[in-house]
Amino acid sequence: MSEYEVVYFDVLVIGSGGAGLRAAIAAKEAGAKTAVVCKSLLGKAHTVMAEGGIAASLANVANQDSWQTHFKDTLFGGKYVNDWRSALIHAKESPEAVRELERWGAIFDRTKDGKILQREFGGHTFPRLCHVGDRTGLEMIRTLQDRIVALEIELFIECMITRLLVNDGVVVGAFGFRKSTGKTIVLMAKAVILATGGLGRIWRITSNSWDGTADGQALAYEAGAELKDMEFVQFHPTGMLWPPGVKGLLVTEAVRGEGGLLKNKLGERFMKKYDPQRLELSTRDLVARAINQEIKEGRGTEHGGVFLDISHKSAAYIKNKLPSMYQQFMEFADVDITKQPMEVGPTCHYAMGGVKVHPETQESTMRGLFAAGEVAAGLHGGNRLGGNSLSDLLVFGKRAGGAAAEYAAAIKNFAYFEEVKLNRYQRELIAPFENTGNENPALLYADLQELMETHVGIIRHGDKLKEAAETLKTLSNRYPRTRVAGDPRYNFGWHWCLSLKFMLTVAEIITRAAGARKESRSSHTREDFPDLDPEWGKKSIIVRRNKEALEIGTEPLPAMPEDIRKLLEDDLK
Ligand SMILES: Cc1cc2nc3c(=O)[nH]c(=O)nc-3n(C[C@H](O)[C@H](O)[C@H](O)COP(=O)(O)OP(=O)(O)OC[C@H]3O[C@@H](n4cnc5c(N)ncnc54)[C@H](O)[C@@H]3O)c2cc1C
Repeated sequence: MSEYEVVYFDVLVIGSGGAGLRAAIAAKEAGAKTAVVCKSLLGKAHTVMAEGGIAASLANVANQDSWQTHFKDTLFGGKYVNDWRSALIHAKESPEAVRELERWGAIFDRTKDGKILQREFGGHTFPRLCHVGDRTGLEMIRTLQDRIVALEIELFIECMITRLLVNDGVVVGAFGFRKSTGKTIVLMAKAVILATGGLGRIWRITSNSWDGTADGQALAYEAGAELKDMEFVQFHPTGMLWPPGVKGLLVTEAVRGEGGLLKNKLGERFMKKYDPQRLELSTRDLVARAINQEIKEGRGTEHGGVFLDISHKSAAYIKNKLPSMYQQFMEFADVDITKQPMEVGPTCHYAMGGVKVHPETQESTMRGLFAAGEVAAGLHGGNRLGGNSLSDLLVFGKRAGGAAAEYAAAIKNFAYFEEVKLNRYQRELIAPFENTGNENPALLYADLQELMETHVGIIRHGDKLKEAAETLKTLSNRYPRTRVAGDPRYNFGWHWCLSLKFMLTVAEIITRAAGARKESRSSHTREDFPDLDPEWGKKSIIVRRNKEALEIGTEPLPAMPEDIRKLLEDDLK
């Protein structure tokens, strides 16, 4: 490997969002030589955009709250196709994860008697979201970063990984390049943790940051790991609609948590029809479908959405509780939310599916590969509850880091990786500069987004999914002809072209999985199969690569022991 810059670590974490940082801390604290690699700047991971809060049953505001209720809410929200083992661990360990963050310096909003304040959120029975105004992700990242620096964890910033290195079915490192120079880097590791986040950028209207390009899901799939539940993609009910430049930008659920009301153009509070009990605080899948229905039946607003109104609260309250939202609407839309309603509509937000992992260790189906955070699957089932992602990152990031360090400690020597394979990855990396075709990657990307928006969106149909799968093949065939100009230093077009490959791969996986699930369940709505099918409630869809072919199968959900079943009995009746 003489031609390449090669570095060696016990544990390599790919991604510096909440999951990656928490995993790296745990690995380092367990004694592993640890590094974090991320494709954007440190502090710019998507987690920083999280607004509403971290779900944990601290019971500071409602003393009836408990891990049992949090567990039940999570399963109810996911329509019972969650891995109950992950949901149990998550519900039990979230409170301590929040306290730990506080001990490390996070400053949460407080109750009158000085405890961490918790707010209401959709699908949560009690006020449960620990928050810092509507800037919770920022506080989380700041706190974790301080700890990363204190622990002197090595960082490779603005380094994009394009391949996982696999020897005989075992992951032994990662291959990528430095954006500043375009030079290749080989990161050999005894254990690799994927913490690369989501995939929302596959759709045109999305709340996701530019990093959400499905890299981790594609890297894992290409390496040979199994993916699970990929058909479950969450469309958040409230994204900005106007002006067009910010279409999709999130309007946090905290607005509804703080009392915001949803109304159609006739001024009707339409959630009374769809979920009279939970109203605006129903689960996201249900609210998104309700909004979709209102628009379809002609009661939508001028720009094709509905109104979200919190102007009945005092201006001081709104500015204190929702400072980012106030600023966002003022600056981008010239709307003063203390006086006027917001215009909102569904936006692609979150991937419930991802790398299949063991709930205790977060190890994938491949030795040496672990995954945590949005890139991993299991906890959220068919629909994630707001706030359950940030707690997911802390709880399972920590577990992944600990388990990866333990795994690495049992391995004596670093693997040798054949140079000939590295050379192949190198050629693949620079191919967009050398391709002879004249396909514009930006136009190919626009076609992909349009297809996903129209054919694999919030409401799906078997015929459209079939059509989309065919079109995706055509789009993928165009990819080898894509061409970028310029040199490899800070070449955004090149980076985006590489991400486009990941998105094409994962778009096909999602589309095929959505075609396979012939029922409607939480975030996955099929016009041709409008009902919940109890048989589909017993299994997950698993996708893997078999040589060059995409293989789809199912696997039963893990059996639930009697005491856990008892806990859910009332809900399951
Ligand atoms: C606007 C918004 C608000 C939200 N608010 C909340 C909330 O209040 N509560 C809640 O629970 N959830 C919320 N969510 C969801 C939550 O923020 C995300 O699910 C979560 O932050 C994902 O964290 P992560 O650590 O998995 O990945 P991310 O934070 O997305 O980090 C991914 C990291 O991987 C790196 N990366 C990706 N690909 C590569 C590659 N090829 N090579 C190298 N590095 C790579 C990126 O650079 C980045 O560092 C919100 C989401 C959005 C969009």
